Amino acid sequence: MTSICVASGKGGAGKTSMAAALASSLGAPVIFADCDVDAANGAIALGAIEKERTPYFAGPGFSIEASACTGCGRCFTACRFGAIEADNNTGLFSIVPELCERCGACVDVCPTKAIVTFEKQAGVLFVSEGRGSMPLVHAELEPGEDTSGKLVAVVRKRAEAIASNDSIIVIDAPPGIGCPVIASLTGTDLVLVVVEASSSGIRDAARLVELIVSMKRKALAVINKTGLDDAMDEKARSMLSDAGIPLVGEIPFDPALRSAEESGRTWAEIRCEATDSIRALLDATIEAIGEAGGKSARPMSATS
Ligand code: SF4
Ligand code: SF4
Repeated sequence: MTSICVASGKGGAGKTSMAAALASSLGAPVIFADCDVDAANGAIALGAIEKERTPYFAGPGFSIEASACTGCGRCFTACRFGAIEADNNTGLFSIVPELCERCGACVDVCPTKAIVTFEKQAGVLFVSEGRGSMPLVHAELEPGEDTSGKLVAVVRKRAEAIASNDSIIVIDAPPGIGCPVIASLTGTDLVLVVVEASSSGIRDAARLVELIVSMKRKALAVINKTGLDDAMDEKARSMLSDAGIPLVGEIPFDPALRSAEESGRTWAEIRCEATDSIRALLDATIEAIGEAGGKSARPMSATS
């Protein structure tokens, strides 16, 4: 089993499209692990159909039993997150689930043991089937939940449970450089960094590259949306070269790529002006996956 994580540091850089194109081009058993649990759209990119859903529980929730509450207000004072509110009519208190950080401080101060815990569903884990029967593991976090790093680990674990020895897991990382990204990068064999050739794209990718280097992950990169600003393209190349990240290719800006996404096809499944560049960089990436341990990975030129 080999894993490659596709990450960009920034939303809208083309990361999911790149991950979907890579997954659909690998001549090997592939599992797509969509770790962007706050905004998963790998299922859309791969035209996946839901096969299985499981509730995800991240820990206990807290609630106040009105019958046992005397309205003393101690919990209100103890809560540092403003998650307890008073009912002006009854004089009793209740917990706002979206604001509750589950610290348990209110439980400790309640003299009547009116605050109880319950199993709170924090999200849903899905297993779907993409084009070509590709298994896709993805998840949705409930609004206000902040356990996305933990849910990323659950998504990866489920993908690994489906995988066989010669499987390749393509991980679509969330944007940013926080806990869910670290959970997506941890232990991967290879990282493909998608750098958008724009000021914010380069800045965010540079922060991600710093994280990848500190985590000692093997990485390569692709620059997306080139050809709009030569100085920006050069800045992206320099950033990668300074960090020692090999560049496997560049994708010139092409509106046809956006149309492909909207019509439910991956970048590898359409013909446009960027096609030759995309094929070449996918081949180079697949070759690198083979070198990283994914012996069943075959370049597109060998599979098409
Ligand atoms: S501390 Fe307990 S009794 Fe006092 S207001 Fe809060 S829930 Fe009610
Ligand atoms: S568990 Fe913590 S955050 Fe939640 S209501 Fe109680 S004191 Fe506030």
